[in-house]
Amino acid sequence: MNKRLTGKVALITGAAQGMGASHAQRLVAEGARVVIADLNDDAGSALAQEMGPEAHYTHLDVTDYDQWTAAVAMTTDHFGSLDVLVNNAGIVNFSPLADFPIELWDKTLAINLTGVFYGIRAAFEPMKASGRASIINISSVAGLMGLEFMPAYNATKFGVRGLTKGAALDLGRFNIRVNSIHPGTILTPMTDGLPIDQSRVALGRAGSAEEVSAMVAYLASDESSFSTGAEFVVDGGQSVGTTSSNAHTATHQ
Ligand code: NAD
Repeated sequence: MNKRLTGKVALITGAAQGMGASHAQRLVAEGARVVIADLNDDAGSALAQEMGPEAHYTHLDVTDYDQWTAAVAMTTDHFGSLDVLVNNAGIVNFSPLADFPIELWDKTLAINLTGVFYGIRAAFEPMKASGRASIINISSVAGLMGLEFMPAYNATKFGVRGLTKGAALDLGRFNIRVNSIHPGTILTPMTDGLPIDQSRVALGRAGSAEEVSAMVAYLASDESSFSTGAEFVVDGGQSVGTTSSNAHTATHQ
């Protein structure tokens, strides 16, 4: 494994499980030190312990700005800097728009969108001090195209994409880069048990968390030093259009 991240310190939200946990493992494998932040203290601290001294767990509810301030301070106290912020925490929910529960709309916006803004704001000073910082906002294909029965998720993931572009303009003068990643269907606890049909997607399968972590590692590293405000799509081709399912499966059987 390349060690592209030696000397960098990363804070990853929602990192106790799923893609966030995979990102934490990948960044440490590439030489970074990582703060795993989540609501799920048992899973988060168990993961940090398993990963060793290059990983550290902290409780962080991304909807609470005071907790953000504390998590950022803890990161710089413990590891000395903050160079990479991965805004990964998110929830998904499905309901036809006409019946969509109001409280679920508010909760989804608070976690998926406001949480990202809070993170960027809270991390600004140490990221400015870093001089070569990278903020990676996890959006979705739902930030590129409409999807049925997920109005709040759709709205927040488009919001993250827009916030990313504005933040890139504001923060470029401090050499803080801000980019969004747009995963398609990825096999994690979030999608566990959902009916998944990828037969009309170009690559004809769901993705793994590790395939998204490879993009996170690239954006965290100085290899992506001239990319900011950009959309990095990791979706097996889902957002480009549909393929004929029969033709696709025929080729691969
Ligand atoms: P997951 O449900 O497996 O993990 C999400 C993590 O976020 C959990 O550990 C959870 O405890 C944490 N979390 C939830 N609310 C939080 C809060 N308020 N504060 C801090 N942590 C909180 O999800 P995943 O599939 O790994 O998804 C990670 C990100 O990728 C999400 O933003 C999701 O929207 C996005 N995404 C997922 C997919 C997919 O197919 N799985 C596709 C596109 C985008």
